[in-house]
Amino acid sequence: MATGGAQALANLAHGLRDLFFAPACAACGGAVEHDEFLCPACREQVSPPTEPSCRVCGLPGHSWHCPACAASPPAFDAARALALHTGPLAEVVRGFKYQRRYWLGEGLSRLLGTAPRSWWATADIVAPVPLHPRRLVARGFNQALVLARGLPGGQGPELAPRLLNRKRYTRPQVGLDPGARRRNVEGAFALAPAWQGRLEGAWVLLVDDVFTTGATVNECAKVLKQAGAERVEVLTLVRAVGGKS
Ligand SMILES: [Zn+2]
Ligand SMILES: [Zn+2]
Repeated sequence: MATGGAQALANLAHGLRDLFFAPACAACGGAVEHDEFLCPACREQVSPPTEPSCRVCGLPGHSWHCPACAASPPAFDAARALALHTGPLAEVVRGFKYQRRYWLGEGLSRLLGTAPRSWWATADIVAPVPLHPRRLVARGFNQALVLARGLPGGQGPELAPRLLNRKRYTRPQVGLDPGARRRNVEGAFALAPAWQGRLEGAWVLLVDDVFTTGATVNECAKVLKQAGAERVEVLTLVRAVGGKS
């Protein structure tokens, strides 16, 4: 977490960038090259999840299935992330999501767009994890949808911004233990009426910002599988290790 002073400096740098169009690092406010959103020093601290990792949830340190996936297989078939949820990138993700820094979405969605084609290109449908309308109003945007828009369009899968709805308002997952996270989101999602009967045999890619325990995407995947989806995979920008944040 940046200190208050460092944060104030970063904010000032963003303000100046907006005024003079001089790009600044989204994490530290330092100088960036071209249209990068992180400076070389911050970029160096962005690390992809280490291999081997769980074949289902992607948890590093497991060569086949992690104990959680072996004991209780999730409803999704695989989950992958571009980077670990640590360091400057974690700061930027938090700033984007909780401090309403919408402009950070541009660099973050571009980063999501660097995911290997094999992770997303054969999906039929790409869908963001939805926000409850109340939270959408408070935040002003759905961070998962902003990220999903970073995947190249064209001949790729169809982006379905409203494939799923939140049926009820849930408290934020931050700070909850794995069991509480599961209970918090249980039954919270429903297929949008417009998609009823249209998912038979479909391959759906769910997009979100952070994968922590997978409780949220697991609930979404349950709904999609019940609606007939044949395969549900998850792509997140970052992966938290250690069950926090
Ligand atoms: Zn930096
Ligand atoms: Zn696993």
